[in-house]
Amino acid sequence: MKILVINAGSSSLKYQLIDMEGEQLLAKGLCERIGLDGHLTHKPQNGKAVFEADIPFPTHKEAIEAVLEKLTSAQYGVVETMAEIGAVGHRVLHGGSEFTQSCLVDDACEAAIKKCFPLGPLHNPANLMGIKACQAVMPGTPQVAVFDTSFGMSMAPKAYMYALPYEYYEKDSLRRYGFHGTSHRFVSARAVELMGGKPGTRVINCHLGNGSSLSASIDGKCVDTSMGLTPLAGVPMGTRSGDCDPALLQFIMNKYGYSIDEMLNILNKKSGVLGLSGVSSDFRDLDSAAAQGNARARLALDKFAYEVRKYIGAYTAALGGLDVLCFTAGVGENSSSMRASIAEGLEYLGIQIDPEKNQVRGKEMDISAAGSRVRVFVIPTNEELMIARDTRDLVCGA
Ligand code: ADP
Repeated sequence: MKILVINAGSSSLKYQLIDMEGEQLLAKGLCERIGLDGHLTHKPQNGKAVFEADIPFPTHKEAIEAVLEKLTSAQYGVVETMAEIGAVGHRVLHGGSEFTQSCLVDDACEAAIKKCFPLGPLHNPANLMGIKACQAVMPGTPQVAVFDTSFGMSMAPKAYMYALPYEYYEKDSLRRYGFHGTSHRFVSARAVELMGGKPGTRVINCHLGNGSSLSASIDGKCVDTSMGLTPLAGVPMGTRSGDCDPALLQFIMNKYGYSIDEMLNILNKKSGVLGLSGVSSDFRDLDSAAAQGNARARLALDKFAYEVRKYIGAYTAALGGLDVLCFTAGVGENSSSMRASIAEGLEYLGIQIDPEKNQVRGKEMDISAAGSRVRVFVIPTNEELMIARDTRDLVCGA
């Protein structure tokens, strides 16, 4: 079965076509500037040429039409006809507490995605537009929604509740949901597999990219995760502050006369390693600046490693011990210096990295030192494949 995986944003749409036989990527691409003018980049993986050009995309529907045209075209295509595409899997940001797992799109599912608009105001409406566009262009092809939040649904109340008046949970569903769930699910499942499926396997996964989050899981089921009601919580990120004292808001807003929207913009877009360093949100830029003696770039890198290390300690306590530590996403998969820096001083938890093996970039590797009690893995994440697997399982009734 061939599955089209869609990640629709408000003005962009990323896609991959995956052949589930051998889990082979057939083509991928990106539609940009939807609703403005429109631009398509289509990359077949079968040796055919890359297509890149401006195409008018008034709505997501025209974008999906263009994607299907390219996927089936003689010059750029990877399938003969649209009928070969057995199902579509959609990334949906927020499933609220309704969805503990992925689901076939029907009226109830669409209503639930809409109900979560207030919790994911930027993403959920766009995700639904992607679903509607596919329904219009590919009628009869089953659609599946895969929620970023469903991984977090196995958390216990003590992990997901905020210590706020209970009515905010009851009336407004305010709780920790966690994000990057599909990535955490993919990596923790792979870690358990690499451990031979041993029951009770305790995993901490560090998804470290532009956005960063950690999760603690047992047998692939989430026990805790660092992002919260929104992706602003947890460790510092490229431009997000991560956890900080909420009373800071009152101080800064009063002193500088900011509205709450301006304040949140600072916390989301101007903080994190960018805010600390004043150099960049990109970890490669920070590495070069720090190497040239920039003290604030050094501070940003040290702060990031320190906060990730503290979460590893906290989650080891939450799990009652640790079997596997995983690194994934842009920084986690590629930065040996950041991995080494995070693991420094964690020997007492049984975490030891082999400096040679730690040189690995972008591929799966056991980087534990001989004698490390905890196994340390680099596992490249693949959210699209996870979405495709869920889609196949739901459509084929696995
Ligand atoms: P996103 O959260 O946008 O999906 P990614 O997971 O792609 O982000 O991660 C992007 C981050 O990964 C950038 O900050 C980039 O600098 C960092 N990165 C990629 N390669 C390296 C590397 N070799 N060393 C350090 N950082 C890297």
